[in-house]
Amino acid sequence: MEKNTINTLIREFTDKSAEEILKYFISRYKSRGDSAARENEMERIALGTALGAEGQALTHMIVTIHPKARIFVIDTGRLHEETYDLMMRSMNRYGIRYEIYFPEASDVEELERMNGPNLFYENADLRKKCCHVRKVKPLRRVLQTLDVWITGLRRSQSVTRSSIEKIEWDEANGLIKLNPLADWSEEDVWRYIRENNIPYNKLHDQGYPSIGCAPCTRAVSPGEDIRAGRWWWEQPEHRECGLHPAGGRLVGRNNRHG
Ligand code: SF4
Repeated sequence: MEKNTINTLIREFTDKSAEEILKYFISRYKSRGDSAARENEMERIALGTALGAEGQALTHMIVTIHPKARIFVIDTGRLHEETYDLMMRSMNRYGIRYEIYFPEASDVEELERMNGPNLFYENADLRKKCCHVRKVKPLRRVLQTLDVWITGLRRSQSVTRSSIEKIEWDEANGLIKLNPLADWSEEDVWRYIRENNIPYNKLHDQGYPSIGCAPCTRAVSPGEDIRAGRWWWEQPEHRECGLHPAGGRLVGRNNRHG
């Protein structure tokens, strides 16, 4: 996509609501043409969710706009039981089927044979290797099928996310990244969940504001940073898994071109 086109979209949608952004991009990208041959093609726009509060809010929003929207989940094999339970509840509530992506079995076998099953606690390199095998590689497979990737990222989630835009060009993956909740607060998310009676992960009621893989997530104390329970043994600026690397954007708040 042209840099100018992205800049125009950013300007046009900067004050639009999450629903307005989703409606526009879903109607624009869900159909790639009107020929019968294209009817069975996969849509090129999808929500990626880890079943957190933001993912649930967006699932509700998207299914309301487009009941057959693609919604994908990276199942690392190390998720909490509560997360699988939420997947089942959401499937029943919304009548959806998730596109589930697993890591390559041979990659996981090699990783664990070399380093053991709980390698992530050994050092940051091994932790990142685990995230690469279990999250980043499966994500790359799904992103190859997309022109638009919808995420639940918010600016106030962490220092690494403070400059995200609602619409970005993801240079590394060659697609548009939509962050419709970029300017939402945590309170905004929970108000939306309560008002719409959206199913959410039971762990949120047990002190887990942010939920990832079971061995790498712990509950936080009141007042602690909401991502303090993710890879808690590492420094905050390193607490990303590689799914959303900072600095991979052609156009964004701090590196806008033109
Ligand atoms: S969050 Fe932990 S278990 Fe999950 S992929 Fe990363 S290192 Fe592995």
